[in-house]
Amino acid sequence: MANCAIVGINWGDEGKGRMVDLLTGHYDVVIRYQGGGNAGHTVINEYGKFALHLLPSGIFRRGVVNVLGNGVALDPENLWAEMQEVMGKGVSLTPDNLKISDRASLLLPWHRDLDALEEARLADKKYGSTKQGIAPFYSDKQQKKTVLAGELFYPEELRAHLRDLMEWKNLTLTKVYGAKPYTMELLERWIADACENIKPYICDTGEFLHTAQKQGKRLLFEAQLGSLRDLDYGIYPYTTSSNTTAAYAPIGSGLPSAKIGNVVGVVKAYSTCVGEGPFVCEMFGDEAEALRRAGAEYGAKTGRPRRVGPLDIVATRYGVEVQAATEIALTKLDVLSYMEKIPVCTRYLLNGRETDRFPFPVALKDAKPVIEYMDGWRCDISAARRWEELPAQAQNYVNMIENQIGCRIKYVSVGPERDSIIIR
Ligand code: GDP
Repeated sequence: MANCAIVGINWGDEGKGRMVDLLTGHYDVVIRYQGGGNAGHTVINEYGKFALHLLPSGIFRRGVVNVLGNGVALDPENLWAEMQEVMGKGVSLTPDNLKISDRASLLLPWHRDLDALEEARLADKKYGSTKQGIAPFYSDKQQKKTVLAGELFYPEELRAHLRDLMEWKNLTLTKVYGAKPYTMELLERWIADACENIKPYICDTGEFLHTAQKQGKRLLFEAQLGSLRDLDYGIYPYTTSSNTTAAYAPIGSGLPSAKIGNVVGVVKAYSTCVGEGPFVCEMFGDEAEALRRAGAEYGAKTGRPRRVGPLDIVATRYGVEVQAATEIALTKLDVLSYMEKIPVCTRYLLNGRETDRFPFPVALKDAKPVIEYMDGWRCDISAARRWEELPAQAQNYVNMIENQIGCRIKYVSVGPERDSIIIR
């Protein structure tokens, strides 16, 4: 069986966690390869309801090994809090089923401070950061100004390294932002309180994955956010600071030789977007409020109301292309059941001309959505488990999307629970 990546096609929050939770049953190892605690994957299963931020969504399956790869922003405080929450609900987390890459960089205490300080400085020009320190973290990683998780096993070198970094970072904190400087005492406490807890899980995950690959184990790569938030291919600068695309999975996981045969792109049956930035198909007023309420569209991490709109074919087709998706999981189809007519954004109007190509980021602000309508089905579809059980209008909607984006829709999700799925 081919290795698989599960990725978001749009702006994130498509329901990736739900799909990973479903598909992990077929895999031996689940690997998170980018991002950090700035977004949440919602998983509902026999243990309860969870908003996972850093833990791979395979954590609930017995026998599945979960890996946090070198590409993630490893925030020891948040990770430990999340681990305690999951363990508190009866899930066993041991160094056998959770492995943290020794090459993952640690998100340091000042990264969160700098995120908040910079958003405050930007005032009304802010990018909508979740203030989890992700942008300062990845900038520092590129500058080689972070600490690798494996350095926790070299206490003397770690302290010398942290002292150098602290002296450098205090210049920015105090001179640029007028904030309080860090001290070694604060960092000692951070090592003792946050890092020591996760230390038993840190290992050479590269070696583990290499061996797993040689043994023919089935690997599942789990991404965070979606194509349009990818640092290189998304709506820059309203992107995240890492690569959310499947192509990055081998690098960020610790297995550069990995071949990914299957890319499951997750698409929501309508559009949502958290935070700032261009969102061409955005709906407003009562129409938006009705959709937001029907889909419970409030951020998993921040509780912020999400911006909503109809399915955006232009953005989705681009997202499919960027992810090189081989199949699609369409989620939350049940949410549209209240609509008499279902709006779909099929093209953009830009500079007086219609286009079906996703424009350059700066041009997006001038694009207007071209909306077409499809018949709704106006009945509860959440109990459907076979394609034939969907009303004709719902089948037409799914078929239309499949034709427009040029990728097979293999999964249709009609509810948040693990088994609320139609596999075609
Ligand atoms: P992720 O970050 O891509 O995993 O997505 P989120 O967790 O932010 O958002 C997905 C939300 O939709 C979660 O609350 C899921 O429980 C829920 N969900 C996923 N699939 C479905 C579905 O088919 N129908 C409904 N009604 N809810 C769903």
